Amino acid sequence: MHCDAVIFGGGIAGLWLLDELRRGGYSAILLESRALGSGQTVASQGIIHGGLKYTLSGMLTRSASNISEMPLIWRDCFAGTSQPDLSDTILRSQYCYLWRTQSLTSRLGMIGAKVGLRVAPENLAETETPPVLQGCPGTVAKLPEQVMSPPSLINNLYSRNRNRILKYDAESGCVFKFEKPGRIQQIHLIQSDSETLKLTPDNVIFTAGKGNAALRERAGLTSSAMQLRPLHMVMVRGNLPEFNGHCVDGSKTRVTITTDRNIRGETVWQIGGQVSEVGVEMEPEELINHTQQELAEVLPALSQDGLQWGTYRVDRAEQKTSGGKRPESFGIKKDGNTLTVWPTKLVLAPVVAETILPKITHTADWSDAEQERLANWSKPAVALPPWEIPGNWLTPALRRSA
Ligand SMILES: Cc1cc2nc3c(=O)[nH]c(=O)nc-3n(C[C@H](O)[C@H](O)[C@H](O)COP(=O)(O)OP(=O)(O)OC[C@H]3O[C@@H](n4cnc5c(N)ncnc54)[C@H](O)[C@@H]3O)c2cc1C
Repeated sequence: MHCDAVIFGGGIAGLWLLDELRRGGYSAILLESRALGSGQTVASQGIIHGGLKYTLSGMLTRSASNISEMPLIWRDCFAGTSQPDLSDTILRSQYCYLWRTQSLTSRLGMIGAKVGLRVAPENLAETETPPVLQGCPGTVAKLPEQVMSPPSLINNLYSRNRNRILKYDAESGCVFKFEKPGRIQQIHLIQSDSETLKLTPDNVIFTAGKGNAALRERAGLTSSAMQLRPLHMVMVRGNLPEFNGHCVDGSKTRVTITTDRNIRGETVWQIGGQVSEVGVEMEPEELINHTQQELAEVLPALSQDGLQWGTYRVDRAEQKTSGGKRPESFGIKKDGNTLTVWPTKLVLAPVVAETILPKITHTADWSDAEQERLANWSKPAVALPPWEIPGNWLTPALRRSA
């Protein structure tokens, strides 16, 4: 089968790109080796950032200027007034709260936060602050950054493109034939002895997050083009309010809290920010203790009685930077007919797709029989969010001591 584009990896970068290509009339498919969104997308906090995090130092950095257009694009998609129609994605909240700790540097951070943003924070009167922020020092602001539920976003994009998404076995179900490193001539998919598919791609796009390293090696390319930055996230469930927000300390976010509901309908908080960075070196119990202390300081009104705690580790996969720092924006590397993509942030998926689209030429047209073949090929599942994985929660005995 001749294809305009074969995408490897169904996180947000691959799914958004596939949707754009399909709507543009391209013969494009996406191959997923695990469950859609495994890795970063399903584990993310789902905040449609508008760049605030990157202006905390008081300057509009390149990251912030790239990202500042994104909330408006996503907002229209969630409303169903722009493509891709994401009106089936669950929105956790229309805004995030922003509050600060008492230090002078964090006050400066709040000032810096107002520089040059499309979605700027709006200060709240004391009567307007939610009960969980009672007793917090200093100004509380409301930031019109929407928060969505990543598993529902993946499902939304999956249902729009199901016929173009194929499950395959990365170890034994795929052979690349390449002319020279990065110039892939053929991809041979083997589902069973009788079920095989030979794809002749004009363009190959790796959007496999951490999996990009192995894919690049299989295409004769070096894996040193990328870096991993680990995080150790905290989760807590129980009698908690629905709350989404960042606690700012200087130019850092001390904690970032987002809320979802588990399959039993319980409220679950995901806690990132600095705790998840310092937590990389900690065992789960130590990180939970540290987070409990942090929450006692930054959310003094929150009762921590009877809560259950868990953690999960996840690596951010990015294009390599000098010194391993966070990249300023998304990364796309071209080698032969292969593009390797690292969006850096979920919100940047639209601009990533927009950058790739002009590089793809449309020459392949599929017959009805070919389309039917794709529709009938085996399909991947959607990855479970971290709070639905029992092993991420501490055992009852540990929970009690925590
Ligand atoms: C804890 C955390 C919180 C975050 N919070 C936010 C946030 O609030 N807002 C925001 O904008 N960004 C956030 N991010 C960043 C964001 O999640 C990532 O930038 C984005 O999800 C990366 O998407 P991706 O599609 O490149 O990769 P991934 O989401 O990692 O998806 C990769 C996909 O490729 C598949 N795959 C792997 N190997 C292969 C292979 N060999 N063949 C085929 N498929 C393969 C995987 O199974 C997976 O489906 C967060 C990241 C983390 C880790």
